[in-house]
Amino acid sequence: MKDLKINFSKLNGLVPAVVQDARTNKVLMLGFMNEDAYQKTLRDKRVTFYSRSKQRLWTKGETSGNFLELVDILLDCDQDTLLVKANPKGPACHTGADTCFNETNDDWNLSSLAAIIEDRKVNPQKGSYTNKLLDSGINKVAQKVGEEAVELVIEAKDDNKDLFLGEASDLLYHYLVLLTAKGYTLNEVLDVLKKRHAK
Ligand code: AMP
Ligand code: ZN
Ligand code: ZN
Ligand code: ZN
Repeated sequence: MKDLKINFSKLNGLVPAVVQDARTNKVLMLGFMNEDAYQKTLRDKRVTFYSRSKQRLWTKGETSGNFLELVDILLDCDQDTLLVKANPKGPACHTGADTCFNETNDDWNLSSLAAIIEDRKVNPQKGSYTNKLLDSGINKVAQKVGEEAVELVIEAKDDNKDLFLGEASDLLYHYLVLLTAKGYTLNEVLDVLKKRHAK
């Protein structure tokens, strides 16, 4: 990660840092970094702020264990705000909520679903259909994708909106499970598509 040229003197020594979940893109929290907090974040790969209330460096998660593992840091257009991409080890908000901005984070998208499926692989849950699928092996999952694709093709010939959308959802879900079973991520697919688009 390259050392960004942040103009701390212009900012009275403190730069606002918006933390975003690197996998789900949810906005997690806002903190302030001084130069030391920024350098410590780069060094330890754990997001560290300067706490104005504690008046010292504060590594998020230092008592709760809910660290923010650093993925990337970006500067905004006029070099006075940071966007910190991180993988949270637990709820980012001290209230126990996953983010400090739950109200603004009700956007559910394909990446949210992919993140849940990828998480199931790492943290299996009892009674989870996703885990049952993943345990059944790649060939079984691939076969399910084929079946769901055929079901979608059949519904495409009909005019039942609910059935069509249901099969379209089944296909997307099983497709994501197959990616996960193979050890790949939705982001890797999106990268391929992005490169094609750039051509
Ligand atoms: P933690 O950094 O998670 O170990 O929490 C230590 C203390 O920092 C908590 O007791 C809160 O006072 C404060 N804190 C933790 N998370 C947040 C947050 N997202 N926003 C503001 N304060 C926080
Ligand atoms: Zn700015
Ligand atoms: Zn909070
Ligand atoms: Zn189906």
